[in-house]
Amino acid sequence: MQPRDLELGILGGGQLGKMLIQAASRWHMRCHVLDPAADCPAADIASTFTHGTFRDYETVLRFGEGKRQITIEIEDVSTEALHELQAQGAIVHPAPDVLDIIKDKGAQKQFFKEHNLPTATFRLFDSRSEIEGAVRSGKLKLPFVQKLRTGGYDGRGVQIVRKTANLGALFDEPSVIEELVPIQKELSVIVARNTHGEVAAYPAVEMVFNPRANLVEYLVCPASLDEAMHRLAEVTALKTIKALNMVGVLAVEMFLDDAGDLLVNELAPRPHNSGHHTIESCITSQYEQHLRAIFGLPLGSTAMHSPAVMVNLLGAEGASGSPVYHGWNECLRKPGVYLHLYGKQEVRPFRKMGHATILGSTLDEALEKAKFVQYTLKVTA
Ligand code: ADP
Repeated sequence: MQPRDLELGILGGGQLGKMLIQAASRWHMRCHVLDPAADCPAADIASTFTHGTFRDYETVLRFGEGKRQITIEIEDVSTEALHELQAQGAIVHPAPDVLDIIKDKGAQKQFFKEHNLPTATFRLFDSRSEIEGAVRSGKLKLPFVQKLRTGGYDGRGVQIVRKTANLGALFDEPSVIEELVPIQKELSVIVARNTHGEVAAYPAVEMVFNPRANLVEYLVCPASLDEAMHRLAEVTALKTIKALNMVGVLAVEMFLDDAGDLLVNELAPRPHNSGHHTIESCITSQYEQHLRAIFGLPLGSTAMHSPAVMVNLLGAEGASGSPVYHGWNECLRKPGVYLHLYGKQEVRPFRKMGHATILGSTLDEALEKAKFVQYTLKVTA
């Protein structure tokens, strides 16, 4: 690592970008951020901030020109521009061809199939009428899950269709139709691969969802799985990052179904919500690991200091406007509770405004404190 390396362009300035910069700052690395929101979480702490949309070819090209090393904190960016910057000699990790696969849920599913990665059975469709036709002719059975191939995010763009009467609500866009999996547990394994091909995996985390908001409510690490399932989850995630030939941090979201089979659901080629806890609970955080990976440095230990629970701090139902935080003092009184605020200027129902990581000497102790945090910490308008 030499001074000329200590510079990074990041597409996206949300909370993931902010926490990446916090890790980079320890190495006194200058980070330059591009984001369409001037008041995004990373804007204040970036060395320079460029206001503009990362989905626009010209904007990304202009942002990237002269930058030696570029990464992302959101995959929905102009990969055309990243291909061009890479052709001009910039180091771009994750590579744009990896982003092209992951940006499109249809291409992701085909990738899983081609590489023998276990995943729910699926078919690709271009329109609502095509799906309706398949159901009417008996070639497609209900219930199923419809997912938009592109543009969906955090539960938006995913719907379960159970009855023929609901076919009218289908998205009329290119989509993946997937069997409805009887889910026992939702898991995520964060893995990393550096430019030399070294890999590392964090222990599996278990995500517990808020059914109404379809957002992760809290996560627990390590997941309550037997040793063999932990190992299988790790091996599957490592197989995925190797198959992608990807450099950086990759979150591999999986389902453990009722039959006890592990299925890969989807990928995020960047630090992920399910890895926030690593900042306090692991020897190397996912953010530092991402920097180590993309700069070709040795990967850090993924061992945990102690079990951890992560609670997302979501905007309260009906909240809209300037955020008001409740319960801060009470939570800070508890040892092992770490609060993170993203600094978003507007609260909306279920918007991710911050998170808390709760450590305990046992998982039960951490869960106990996490329940208190969840009950006490609120964001209203
Ligand atoms: P997003 O990109 O919005 O996170 P996901 O593919 O993760 O989309 O789907 C969101 C949620 O919907 C999942 O976390 C899971 O709870 C549910 N889900 C997705 N696919 C299936 C499926 N095939 N069967 C059952 N539930 C599913």
